[in-house]
Amino acid sequence: MDECLFCKIVRRESPARLVKEDDEVLAFRDTNPQAPTHVLIIPKAHIASVDDARPEDQAILGRLVLMAQSIARDEKIVPGYRLVLNNGRGAGQTVYHIHLHLLGGRGFRWPPG
Ligand code: 5GP
Ligand code: ZN
Repeated sequence: MDECLFCKIVRRESPARLVKEDDEVLAFRDTNPQAPTHVLIIPKAHIASVDDARPEDQAILGRLVLMAQSIARDEKIVPGYRLVLNNGRGAGQTVYHIHLHLLGGRGFRWPPG
């Protein structure tokens, strides 16, 4: 995915404030944070959206959530945090490389906007 913004971050062709990574997952700070902690967690391999995920992506999708848990612990986010996956234009997805938002450090209302 030559032109994908987040693939470029994975390849270190675009700068990002990296938070954590392992062999298959990368986490970096959102450039337009919506909370005191706002981290994007992505698979290093390109998946465009939740809608594009396949059965064989099951493990990597789980790893995104566990990476979020690990970062939330590292950053001592209390009393809770929110994980968001925007899927598609109607839900506000703007970057088509799947990313889990980890938001914390403030209160959250329900339902979300
Ligand atoms: P979406 O709206 O697709 O769920 O979320 C995309 C997120 O990516 C937004 O929160 C936006 O601020 C963030 N973003 C867009 N471009 C960049 C970038 O180049 N670097 C980083 N770190 N975040 C970005
Ligand atoms: Zn990509």
